[in-house]
Amino acid sequence: MDLEKSLGETLAGMGTDLDRASRAQIFCALLRVTRDAELSMAPAPGGRKLYYFSAEFLVGRLLRANLVNLGLADEAERVLAAHGTSLAEVEDCEPEPSLGNGGLGRLAACFLDSIASLGLSGDGVGLNYHYGLFRQDLSDGTQREEPNPWIEPESWLIDTGRSFSVPFGFGPLTARMYDIAVPGYENGTVNRLHLFDVDDPAPAPEHGIDFDKGDVRHDLTSFLYPDDSDEAGRLLRVYQQYFMVSAGAQLILAELAERGAPVTELDRHVAVHINDTHPSMVIPELVRLLCEGGVPFEEAAAIVERTCAYTNHTILAEALETWPMSYLEQVAPKIVPVIRRLDALARERSDEPSVAIVDQGDVVHMANLDVHFSHAVNGVAALHTKILVESEMRPLAELYPEKFSNKTNGVTFRRWLMGCNPGLASLVTSAIGDGWKRDASRLEDLLDLRGDSAFTQALLEVKDANKARLAAWLRAEKGIEVDPGSVFDIQVKRMHQYKRQQMNALYALWKYLQIKHGNVPTRPVTMVFGAKAAPAYTLAKDTINLLVAIGRLVADDPEVSPWLTLAFVENYNVTAAEHLIPAADVSEQISLASKEASGTSNMKFMANGAVTLGTLDGANVEIAELVGRENIYLFGRSSADVIGLYASDGYRPWDVWQGDAELAEVLDMIVSPELLARGDAGCLARVYRDFVAKDYFMALLDARDYAAVKERCLADYEDRAAWGEKALVNVARSGFFSSDRTIREYDRDIWHLS
Ligand SMILES: *Cc1c(COP(=O)(O)O)cnc(C)c1O
Repeated sequence: MDLEKSLGETLAGMGTDLDRASRAQIFCALLRVTRDAELSMAPAPGGRKLYYFSAEFLVGRLLRANLVNLGLADEAERVLAAHGTSLAEVEDCEPEPSLGNGGLGRLAACFLDSIASLGLSGDGVGLNYHYGLFRQDLSDGTQREEPNPWIEPESWLIDTGRSFSVPFGFGPLTARMYDIAVPGYENGTVNRLHLFDVDDPAPAPEHGIDFDKGDVRHDLTSFLYPDDSDEAGRLLRVYQQYFMVSAGAQLILAELAERGAPVTELDRHVAVHINDTHPSMVIPELVRLLCEGGVPFEEAAAIVERTCAYTNHTILAEALETWPMSYLEQVAPKIVPVIRRLDALARERSDEPSVAIVDQGDVVHMANLDVHFSHAVNGVAALHTKILVESEMRPLAELYPEKFSNKTNGVTFRRWLMGCNPGLASLVTSAIGDGWKRDASRLEDLLDLRGDSAFTQALLEVKDANKARLAAWLRAEKGIEVDPGSVFDIQVKRMHQYKRQQMNALYALWKYLQIKHGNVPTRPVTMVFGAKAAPAYTLAKDTINLLVAIGRLVADDPEVSPWLTLAFVENYNVTAAEHLIPAADVSEQISLASKEASGTSNMKFMANGAVTLGTLDGANVEIAELVGRENIYLFGRSSADVIGLYASDGYRPWDVWQGDAELAEVLDMIVSPELLARGDAGCLARVYRDFVAKDYFMALLDARDYAAVKERCLADYEDRAAWGEKALVNVARSGFFSSDRTIREYDRDIWHLS
């Protein structure tokens, strides 16, 4: 395609041209040109076709990613530069699609990119949330949730004109199908992300994210994860899930019929992937539809089992979904008898009560349903899969040893290196050529440059330029001042106790006291946080308030502020991540060992030359093996120790702080007059009480080791040449975490698409 010509024609149609058009108009024209070019491109030829079901697809802004994959990014930069603007300026007009929450949704987006880029036939299936998760407002220091509308008159959504009728208990509801194109990287393939929506969506609430959860016909696709602390919220989640899977299952069977294949050949032509338990009802829905098509029940169940595969994302008991059968009777009565019969079949295979699909209280265990009626089950990092098989899902793993495997997560380097860090990408290309763009494992060629001081120097200069760029972005977008000459120590991820932002807060308070005592660091330190808390998760919101209050305390103190900054970046999302990650020196991955299934931001930071400070948890274990102990900072109790402590109920936080006067002093700071003047008394008191009396995720247990190792890490930063080599090894070894590698493994072991 001649981009300049198409862009000129489109702008002419809008009554303007490249010199007169506003950035918003140029964005709009580029979107149209790109989207329309993709519409005319072919889907990957199949074989078997994959349908990847996920409640979330955290795709991020799409303009740059689409231009990169179409091979048009450089031309776009050139054309825009000739007219006095840039892709960066133009893409700032793009609202970020708000279709996900965190790692799970971002993983699904990376997977779609890799599936298309490998030329495989696979579409995403999800929901078209109008107001997203929420937009985070921290203007008064506590999180307030606001609607995050992102669908503008001109958007990436394509109305397919197709719709399906979903049989709810109250009657049928139409699911309208919108598509977003998913182009592969320079291979001419375009797959689809199918997003189902109601016909007549409700307008956004005036303020906040409270809305009429009973008005399902209009509100079903308003928000992702409506607050489930009441029954109406929980029912709405079930409505959303069944809406997604019923429409998706009907789409699958319609496309199968279009191929001329009988429903009994479903598994020969189709692979269905269930991303966590939110789409689990696709299993009974497919069985139901096959039976309607005349297939006997047991045969239908066997076909569906050979078609479906399931990924587990967590071992936190709270995150394993269960639904009372009474909810399903109300929402999706047609699948209730199917689930009961599947439960009976499963009971023929095992009489162990913990693996039943329907328990004695008539509650449905979605993960158990998935394991019995999928042919493959996987965890998302080596340690996570081991814990699944050996403890969390042990009875199921013993019943079906052949079903379980590990598929360590990955991220797409097209967005997380080529897209977000052009400086590093071109430095790497100048050193080893551009083969790494198609095969990230080639980044290992960088290892030959160890000891080449000119190259490590250039690497550090790219980092410095990214830090300056981030500082400018933080000032312009968030009103935050940071010193680009300081060490950038970044923890960005959802706010959750298991991820232990609260332990990092203790470090900040300890550091504050150190500096007050005259113990100043060699170089200033900037601690950056970004995180949304689930709306009903009080302690997570309290921790945000604590961090914001510490940030104010530090900023207000002239003895401390030259040495320490704590910045909390409001409304963390993919766009923010793309600015933050390329500028990080230290990547904070400090979850309690055994609790983080994999993590994926750890991989993004690594690929961008940050050094990990973390526990041996999730994929950090694999990062440590790849880079070696001298290129990562590890601390904390092992997962085996932690699992043992839970089993023996052997952890008492008060034993820790009562034996440690310095830690007790740090804890007391949380409810000191200085912090109470800058934070919310209720929030701070709750955080304090949780630390001293409960500390379920054992932050106090690891706090000392964490602080000591972090101090060593900051000291090592001063040997710039040695640090440059650590960064180099991290980039060089990061290729393993390309989602292309992950997807090849899924295809080889589970989907068999090609
Ligand atoms: C990668 C990513 C995540 C996942 O972060 P973890 O640290 O792995 O939990 C969450 N949110 C956004 C916006 C991301 O890009």
